[in-house]
Amino acid sequence: MTFRTRIFLAAFITTALSLTVSTVLVSSELRRGFRADIEHTLMQHARLAAELLSDRTTVTDPESEAQQLGQHIDARVTFIDATGQVLGDSDVTRDRLPGVENHNARPEVIDARAGGSGTATRPSNTTGVETTYAAVAVRNSPVSIVRVALPLTVVDERVRGIQQLAAVGLGMALVIAAGLAWGISILLSGRLRRIADTAGRYARGDVSRPSFEYGQDEIGTVARVLDTSVRELGKRLEEMTSERAQLAGILTGMFEGVVLVDQDRRLVLTNDAARQMLQLPADAIGRAYKDVMVDPDVMSMLSSALTGQPTAPREIRLEHSPNGAFIANVVRVEHTPSGGAVLVLHDITELRKLDRIRRDFVANVSHELRTPLTAVRGYVEALMEAPPPDDADRRRFLEIIARHTLRMERLVRDLLRLARLDAGQELLERTPVPIEHVLSDVETEMSDALDHKRQRIVHAITDDAEVVNADPAKLHDVLRNLIENAINYGPEDSEIEVCASRANGATTITVADRGPGIPTSDLPRVFERFYRVDRSRTRDPGGTGLGLAIVRHLVELHDGTVSAARRDGGGTIVTITLR
Ligand code: ADP
Repeated sequence: MTFRTRIFLAAFITTALSLTVSTVLVSSELRRGFRADIEHTLMQHARLAAELLSDRTTVTDPESEAQQLGQHIDARVTFIDATGQVLGDSDVTRDRLPGVENHNARPEVIDARAGGSGTATRPSNTTGVETTYAAVAVRNSPVSIVRVALPLTVVDERVRGIQQLAAVGLGMALVIAAGLAWGISILLSGRLRRIADTAGRYARGDVSRPSFEYGQDEIGTVARVLDTSVRELGKRLEEMTSERAQLAGILTGMFEGVVLVDQDRRLVLTNDAARQMLQLPADAIGRAYKDVMVDPDVMSMLSSALTGQPTAPREIRLEHSPNGAFIANVVRVEHTPSGGAVLVLHDITELRKLDRIRRDFVANVSHELRTPLTAVRGYVEALMEAPPPDDADRRRFLEIIARHTLRMERLVRDLLRLARLDAGQELLERTPVPIEHVLSDVETEMSDALDHKRQRIVHAITDDAEVVNADPAKLHDVLRNLIENAINYGPEDSEIEVCASRANGATTITVADRGPGIPTSDLPRVFERFYRVDRSRTRDPGGTGLGLAIVRHLVELHDGTVSAARRDGGGTIVTITLR
């Protein structure tokens, strides 16, 4: 049933009921009033008749007197003697009088005899019709009681007439009430519908103000209160949404993995980094962390935090990153209804790697310096020993000292260079450089070594690669380092091939020798500082183990790449690409 129908029915039924009840009450009151009036009138008539009859020693023709009186007052008049015998009755013919029963037992007659007057309303024994009687005692007369009676059919007729009128009135009133109730229900339901439409609009996110007024009554007040609440909630929702967006942005941008679990041990929130580190499935949110995580360390930390035990940050390993190192910290979430714990995973793999590189580097530098220093000290002591060595030995010792000193000098020079490159202190000054010029400079510098091993540099440079846009000094150092390695590791009487070509906007230069080559497993590592394929073999050529590391730095300064490979038919080929 619609609200409008309900309002209509409520208003209509209330009005109809009250109208009907008041009509019924009024008509019954009318009936009672009429009866009281009739009783009063009858009593007056009875008293008048009694007055007329009193003090009359004889009443010669009571039948006709009763008839006449009855006609005058338009009511039934009965004369009763002291024995209760009916002497005359306006409604009973003379011949039937003897048959009328004794009236002494009639209640109104009993009352009249006892107190002078009496009334009663009951069905007439004679006519059977509901009748009102008024009896009055007569003084000093053969007629002891005069009784006046009127059948109530008259009253009923009058009351019925009024009831018919009231029914017509009631019918008209009900039609008007129905119209009014309908109008009120349409007005009310219309307002409520507009308020409901506005609420629906708010629910869909459009919180612009409605164009109509809510009104000043109770409905209007309720609507206004709800309106204010909705606006307030909308504002809070907006704030929460923007806070959530900010939080999501922060979490997405974080390198640290963040996982939030609630008191029921279910995942509430994770960021990309955490999903990646813990390899969480896509549907992890809402599931118990024990079902989606495999890392015992993480789970035990979460469990401790959730059970209120103190947890300290600690370094852990993750199943999905066996080579990685992570610091995990779990904090209990206080002051929220749902409680829970936040896990933060910090990836320190790179830090650990850098730390290891630093420690290795320091150890390597110490080691590389200690060897020549020990040699130098040994030979200096030998020179100072008595008896002093002969001239030939002294010369040999001094040559060894000079060689080791040179080695240390080179080492320190290369270390300083790397330090400058690390610190970004070497700037790139690009200019068009003819590769052939650089090559011939290097060849001249290395001519002694080349001659010593009877090696030659042959080069093949394509036309488009003749000039490269690079820093000439740095390109020189790159090629010098590579050619030096090729001389050192290449066999005697061999050729060192240098090729240059251009493709896809980059110049590729290769330096190849016919030496022993670099084992495949060592190829990616030869560019690391101090990495040597075979320490015992490579110590002698006098390298520092830093040459290729410097080469890589210089090439990368040019936005280029460098790689080493094994050469078909034996040997090493180092390729650099400059952009
Ligand atoms: P080094 O000063 O020892 O030559 P590099 O950094 O230049 O140091 O080279 C690193 C290591 O790579 C060398 O010790 C050597 O084992 C290997 N290597 C470099 N170039 C060659 C090459 N042309 N042939 C064979 N091995 C090479």
